[in-house]
Amino acid sequence: MTEAHPPIRNRSDDYRWEGVEVHPYKETGTHFKSITRQTLFAGSDELPVEFRYFEVSPDGHSTLERHEHAHLVMVIRGSGQVLVGDHVSPIGLHDLVHIPPMTWHQFRATSGEELGFLCVVSTERDRPQRPGEDDLAALRQDQAVGQFIRV
Ligand code: MN
Repeated sequence: MTEAHPPIRNRSDDYRWEGVEVHPYKETGTHFKSITRQTLFAGSDELPVEFRYFEVSPDGHSTLERHEHAHLVMVIRGSGQVLVGDHVSPIGLHDLVHIPPMTWHQFRATSGEELGFLCVVSTERDRPQRPGEDDLAALRQDQAVGQFIRV
């Protein structure tokens, strides 16, 4: 039987959890801006998912990417916009976003406030792909998408 753990306490009002480090989303690159990641649960044999909290600062964004694995997201702080496939949508508190496999996606904090969201992902997953020139040309066929994306 797996060892039981006590609850991990939220640390007051700052979207931090006891014993959980705050990391830049990715260590290198310029294709993202002002985003941090906290891994709240790293997965286990019985539950092979990671449960993460991402926070995008005002005017920041996540990487524009796609991959075979899916995401399930819930906004728990602030608001912003998200690209899923060929749609840009406003998102706010407690909205749910499902990112299907091989679907372009990008989160942006466009409302002058933080955009914080929980994200569930499989522990076993493929490496994200970034768009090539052909992909970008296809995405830019839609004017709203073209104006939204940051690469
Ligand atoms: Mn992704």
